[in-house]
Amino acid sequence: MTSAPKNSLEVREKASSEFIDAQMALAAPRHLMTGVRDIMAGTKTAAKKLDDIVLLVAKTLRTDVCSCFVLRAGDLLELFSATGLRADILKSRVHVGEGLVGDIAAHAIPLMLADAKSHPSFTPSPETGGTEFSSFCGVPVLRGGAVRGVLVIQNKIQRNYGDEVVDILQTVSLMLAELITSGGLVTIEEMSAILPVSDKPADMTGISLGRGLAIGHAVLYEPRLTMQNIVADDPKAQKFRLHQAVAGMQGAISRMLHKDNAPTGSETRDILEAYQMFARDKGWFVRIEAAIDKGLSAEAAVQSVLNETHARMMQMSDGYIRDRLQDMEDLSNRLLSHLMTQGETVQHENLPEEIILVARSLGPAALLDYDRNRLKGVVLEKGSHSNHVAIVARALGIPVVGQCDDVLNFIVSGDQVIVDGDHGVVYIRPQQAVIDLYTRSQEVRAKRSSTYRRMQHQPSVTLDGVKVSVQMNAGLLSEISTARNLGADGIGLFRTELSFMGWQKYPPVVTQAELYGQILDEMEGKPVVFRTLDIGGDKPLPYFKAPVEENPALGWRAVRIGIDRPAVLRTQFRAFIRASKGRDIKIMLPLVSEVAELDRARELLEMEKARARNNNIAVPENIQVGVMIEVPALLWQMDALLQTADFVSVGTNDLMQYLYAVDRGNGALRDRYDQLSPAMLTTLKMIADRCKAAGIPASICGEMAGQPLEAMVLIALGYDTLSLSAQSLEAVKLMIPTIDTGRLLPYVEQLMKSREHSVRERLLSFARDHHVHLA
Ligand code: PEP
Ligand code: MG
Repeated sequence: MTSAPKNSLEVREKASSEFIDAQMALAAPRHLMTGVRDIMAGTKTAAKKLDDIVLLVAKTLRTDVCSCFVLRAGDLLELFSATGLRADILKSRVHVGEGLVGDIAAHAIPLMLADAKSHPSFTPSPETGGTEFSSFCGVPVLRGGAVRGVLVIQNKIQRNYGDEVVDILQTVSLMLAELITSGGLVTIEEMSAILPVSDKPADMTGISLGRGLAIGHAVLYEPRLTMQNIVADDPKAQKFRLHQAVAGMQGAISRMLHKDNAPTGSETRDILEAYQMFARDKGWFVRIEAAIDKGLSAEAAVQSVLNETHARMMQMSDGYIRDRLQDMEDLSNRLLSHLMTQGETVQHENLPEEIILVARSLGPAALLDYDRNRLKGVVLEKGSHSNHVAIVARALGIPVVGQCDDVLNFIVSGDQVIVDGDHGVVYIRPQQAVIDLYTRSQEVRAKRSSTYRRMQHQPSVTLDGVKVSVQMNAGLLSEISTARNLGADGIGLFRTELSFMGWQKYPPVVTQAELYGQILDEMEGKPVVFRTLDIGGDKPLPYFKAPVEENPALGWRAVRIGIDRPAVLRTQFRAFIRASKGRDIKIMLPLVSEVAELDRARELLEMEKARARNNNIAVPENIQVGVMIEVPALLWQMDALLQTADFVSVGTNDLMQYLYAVDRGNGALRDRYDQLSPAMLTTLKMIADRCKAAGIPASICGEMAGQPLEAMVLIALGYDTLSLSAQSLEAVKLMIPTIDTGRLLPYVEQLMKSREHSVRERLLSFARDHHVHLA
C-alpha cells in the first residue's frame, strides 16, 4: 500500500517522480532499447554487458538502484550485477520464494511497490539495500516460460512505478534472458543442472484430466525458438513481417481445424472456433504493433505482449482466465513460428509411432498438429479440468495427466512413457515389469469397453436389487449429447455459471431461456437439475463486478450473491420458467448456509411465477427447488430444511473443503484428508438417513460420486442418485451391478467408528474380497 507523503518536500518529490514516469513513457523505451541493443551487439564479455545494461537502465529510468539476479542451481538467485548498492554484496544469494526478489521468481510476476517495507514479503536484506530504499519494482527474466532471473530497480523516495516502467523493464528482461541463456554468465552445464534430466525410471503423480491408458514415447512440445533480433529500428518493415505472419498463421489454423482428424463434437467445435476468433483478435495485434513502435522486432514484440499478459493474468485466481492464457501462449508460439520458421510448429520427421505429448501447457488446437492415430497420450505440467486442451483431448478419447510439476525436467524426447489417466500417474522410462502390467491392463480395458457398450443404456441395479440413477454433471449445451450417448439417466447438476463464463456480457433472459430450453429438449424428458449461478470465489464473471476478497472461498459467492442482488436470481428463475414451456423443472441452490436463504429464494421464485402468469407465460405445475449441502451449518438445520426443500444434493467438493477447513484448490493439501474418512462417511450417512426419514430425495453431485470405490460406499449409505462427470460414467456403471449394499453397509458403519485417518485401504480390501468391479 502507498502511504501518504508526510511533508511538502515529499509531495514535490512524489509529483516529480510521477512526472518523470509520464515523460519516460514517451522517450525512454526507444532510447533504452537502442542502447541495450548496442551493448548486446558489442564484443565485451557477458558479465560486462550485464553491468552496462544495469547502468543504462538506472540512468534512463532515473533510479537509485538497478540490480540483476540470475537463477543458479539449488533454486538460488545470485546478485550478478548492481548499481547503487554496496559492492561487497555482489555474488550474494537469496532463495526462490525468499523476500521480494524471491517472490518475483517464485510467482513469475512483476512487483511494483511504492512502499516496499509494507509488503508482507519484505525483508531488510542487503541485496535490496536494507531499509534505505522506499520503492521497489522488479520483473522476472523469463525464457520459454521459465524464470531465469530477476531485474530490479529501486528509489529512495516513494515512487509509484507505473505500468510503463514495468513494460520497459520487461522488454529489457527479454534481452537479459538471451544473455543469461547464452551461457556467458552461468555455464550451460550449470543451467542444465538447474533442469536435471535423469535416465532412471521415475513416476510422477498429477491429476487425471482425461481417463484412459497410453503407452508410447515422449515428444516434447516446446516450440522454443531462439530470437536473433530483439530490437529493430524499422517499425514499418517489422509490421509488414507481422502482417505476413498473422495471415500465414490464420490460414494454417483454419486449414488445421478443417482437417479430417479434427474432433466433431459440438463442444470441441465451439472451443476451436473461439480459438480461431482469438487468432483474429485485433486488440492483440494492436498491442504487438505498439511494442514494435517502442523499438522491438516483430518476434520480440509478440513475446513481450505474451509476457505482459502472462503477468497480468497470473494475478487472477480464476481458472477460466488462466485457461485463456494457455490459448494465448499457444497462439503466440504459432505466430512466432510463422515469423521465424515459416510456420512449422511441429517437426514431423522422426516422430515415434506412438506419441506421448509432453508440455508445460497446450492450446486447444495443439493436439490437431499430430496424426490422430499416433497421438496416444498427453502429459502437462499445468492444466485443469476446464482447460480447453483437456476438453478436446477427452473428446478425442486421449488420456491426459495434468499438474505434473516439473515433468519437463525429468523427461527427454524419445523416453518411453506410460500415461495412466485414470489415476493421474505418469511413468517415465518404466521398468519392463511395469510395462507388462500396463499392457495387460490395456487389453482388459479394451474388453471392458466393449462390455460397457453393450450395457450402457440398461438400468444400473446392484446385486441386491437397489436401482441407482446414474446421471451426469454438465455445464455446456454441447455436453448434453455426450450424456445421451453415454447412457446417463439425466443431468444431476447443470452448472449454469459455466455458460455464463463463455458469454461476453451478462446474458439477457431470452438468451438464458434459449439455452435452458434446448437442454430440456435434448434430454427428452429425462431429469435435469439446473443449479443457479455459483459465481464468486474461484469463479468470477468478467462482466460482473464483485469486491476483491481476502478469502474468496468464504466470501460473497453463489446464493449469497443471488439473495443480495435479487435481480440475478429472479432473472434466472424467469429464464427457467420461460424455458420450461410448462414442463416440470428442477432448480438447485448452491452453497446454502441457512434455511432462511432457501425461504428467501422461494419468495423470489413465487414473484417470478406470478409475473409469468400475469404475462400469460406457462408456469410448470411442479417446480422443484432443491438445495446443495455444502456448508456444515446446514447440517444442524436438517429438520427445518427437509420441511421445505424438494430434494437435496450433496456437493462433496465443497462439503469436504468446509468440513475439513482445507482449500479444495490447494494442490499441496490435496491428499491431506480423505473423503473415505470416518468423519466424512458419518456426515454423509447422517444426511442420507435424515432425508430418507423425511421422504426427501438425496443425491451426490461432487467428484466423489465419480470414483468407483467412493461411489460403491455412497450407494451403500443410501444414495440412489449419483451425478458424475462424463468420463466417470463407464467405470461407475460397470461397478454398480457387482455390489451388494446389504453386505457392505454394516461394514461401512463399523468403519465409521474407526479412529483411523482413512478407511480407504479397508474398503479396497472389501471390494477385492467381494469381487467388486473397480476400474
Ligand atoms: C461441489 O462442491 O461438490 C459441487 C458439485 O459444486 P462445484 O464443484 O461446482 O463447487
Ligand atoms: Mg460446490
